[in-house]
Amino acid sequence: MEIVTYSKNVFIPLTRNCRNRCDYCGFRSEEINIMSEEEVRSVLSAAKGAKEALFTFGERPDEAYPEFRKALNEMGYKTMLEYILEMNRVALDMGFLPHTNAGILSKEEMRKLKPYNASMGLMLEQAVELECHANSPGKRPEVRIKMIRDAGKLQIPFTTGILIGIGEKREDRLYSLEVIADLHENYGHIQEVIIQNFKPKKGTPMENHPPPTAEEMLDAVKAAREILPEEVAVQIPPNLVDDIYPFIKAGANDVGGISSVTHDYINPESPWPEIERLEKALRGEFILKERLPIYPKFVKLKWYAETIEPLIERYSDADGYARP
Ligand code: SF4
Repeated sequence: MEIVTYSKNVFIPLTRNCRNRCDYCGFRSEEINIMSEEEVRSVLSAAKGAKEALFTFGERPDEAYPEFRKALNEMGYKTMLEYILEMNRVALDMGFLPHTNAGILSKEEMRKLKPYNASMGLMLEQAVELECHANSPGKRPEVRIKMIRDAGKLQIPFTTGILIGIGEKREDRLYSLEVIADLHENYGHIQEVIIQNFKPKKGTPMENHPPPTAEEMLDAVKAAREILPEEVAVQIPPNLVDDIYPFIKAGANDVGGISSVTHDYINPESPWPEIERLEKALRGEFILKERLPIYPKFVKLKWYAETIEPLIERYSDADGYARP
């Protein structure tokens, strides 16, 4: 039977401040905010069983907001990068493998983050200019492609993806997938490609923009499976589609990060109900298997630093998947 993978993770949104203004974004906030180390530790402590600490947050907030930088300085950090590094170390010390998606980073910044991250990520979204990104300097296709290329040069196992339904045409999606395939052909570092659907959020400029249909999403998954090499996983986020089965049949083979934290209160005796639900959705035709934030291929290739080697060895089995 074919394998469908997932990762047990915990989400750490260090800040909602962001230098970009994407028309569909319901995450960004103008109010200065930053998670304290205490808050990060508390979220991690509650995530028993998770192995991945997913650091995802707004892009380069310290450059966009002087008040943010001031707040960071008061916490004892000169730059956001310094703070990310420290929080990565905290997660590692607590037994989590960090995966950082901080938006656009320079090659030098990624070089500094690599020793503390099992993998890193940046959604390509679309490799073409779109109206919804008119006020988002970090969403310029050439900037994103450069960062993904730099990650390849640094041999960082990398997660990327495309966002469907934000004003692009079908041919743009195919082109974006071809760009990712080409980057992987050159550097071999893409571990998964997320096919994510746009969902309109109230109060955003795109609140009335229609989301993609299930047919469009299926078509994108099929195209991804055809265009991307076999060794690159195609991920479909299970919380964004009603039923994963048709997407798995169409070629998706990963369902991304599953978190237990929000379920703990409702169902304390079964902390991972989502996993049971997914297993049922696969109808006995596929094996659901836990992976780490670094895919088996890269565990075997040892594309990680000595700093995280002990944790990877503790958590991985002989095939590079998560040890049961
Ligand atoms: S990059 Fe765009 S989508 Fe992401 S947080 Fe910033 S404004 Fe929102």
